[in-house]
Amino acid sequence: MSLADRDRQVVWHPYTQAHSEPPPLPIVAGEGAWLIAEDGTRYLDAVSSWWTNIHGHAHPRLVRALSDQAGRLEHVIFAGATHEPAVALAERLTELTGLARVFYSDNGSTAVETALKMAYQYWANRGERRTRFLILEHGYHGDTVGAMSVSGLPLFRGAFGDLLFDAALYDGEIGADIAAVIVEPMVQGAGGMRVQAPEFLKAIEQQCRETGTLLIADEVMTGFGRTGRMFACEHASVRADIVCMSKGITGGFLPFAATVASQAVYDAFESDDAAHTFFHGHSYTGNPLGCAVALESLAIFDEDDVLGRARAIGTRLADALAPLRDHPRISDVRGLGAIQAIEIEAEGGYLAEVGPLLRRESLRRGVLLRPLGNVLYAMPPLCVTDEEVDRIADVMRELIELV
Ligand code: PMP
Repeated sequence: MSLADRDRQVVWHPYTQAHSEPPPLPIVAGEGAWLIAEDGTRYLDAVSSWWTNIHGHAHPRLVRALSDQAGRLEHVIFAGATHEPAVALAERLTELTGLARVFYSDNGSTAVETALKMAYQYWANRGERRTRFLILEHGYHGDTVGAMSVSGLPLFRGAFGDLLFDAALYDGEIGADIAAVIVEPMVQGAGGMRVQAPEFLKAIEQQCRETGTLLIADEVMTGFGRTGRMFACEHASVRADIVCMSKGITGGFLPFAATVASQAVYDAFESDDAAHTFFHGHSYTGNPLGCAVALESLAIFDEDDVLGRARAIGTRLADALAPLRDHPRISDVRGLGAIQAIEIEAEGGYLAEVGPLLRRESLRRGVLLRPLGNVLYAMPPLCVTDEEVDRIADVMRELIELV
């Protein structure tokens, strides 16, 4: 039986309707920006494997950092114990963000869930009644119940409506009962690679300051160079009170996340009152393997001018896609840094019928693209060569001629 056939018997894939979708690609190896299938076919990973990969697959330095750490200490309980990689990484992340305290977890959703609970309890510990969150239309923050509750995408929330807590859409005002505003800074990912003006983000920050409301920046997708800056908030000179990080934090190697908070947020939890403790954590909180690989990934950023490369990739992609602005079927071409997208005029949003066609036809051309319905985008690993960028852009342009 083939790997795909065995898979079909026992595996349940995320965001996949097995009833109608083609069998999964059997991938056996990764190398730079490429994924290699069982039969030797190579696919250019133009979506960085769900926006995680930064320096390329199986990057030798990250492989070594992982294996060295695994041989020393693979994991240790993080309540009541600590270790060098966790402290060193927290030192780096606080330095990079200007924030003060790092809380570790495992994935983007837990980074967000942690941030929401921190913000909520921050107000409770201070004895103030602020219990609601403000969210942006088209926002997406993950699939756990809290993260879903603050997401603004009706399709993904659909089946779970009654289970979710109430959050209010930001309409330019911040009310007195608002604990925090949560945003995907500069680019909303799953909502269709929607780019914001820096002024929009700056205005929210300003209002948060005026009303004392906490600002949560979900940098799960945008963080670690994707937009051409280390964090997207930097484009708007915005400093959030809490920043959520995952995906690219380990260069795409491990499920790992961090929620980084300001000193003021942290201070609300230090108390003689045990009830003020943040009773939250995960078995793998502070996992040394994740910390060690994240540190090595940041070292690569320092040594290889990865941010400069991200900007160059973005400019090259954007220049190649710009002529599509005049195409009769294209309603928008947009992007920031190494995230570039084309919106096709088609009914159905995320479920638009063009989606499966574009996916199939991109794979036939040796490029892995996974459109968000009618939004075809590229977000390649930041190690792609100019030739690889050109190949992605060529395939995107070819695909547009099929719709
Ligand atoms: N926040 C944002 C902005 C995301 O794009 C995602 C994942 N696409 C998440 C949170 C959730 O991350 P994870 O899938 O690792 O739970």
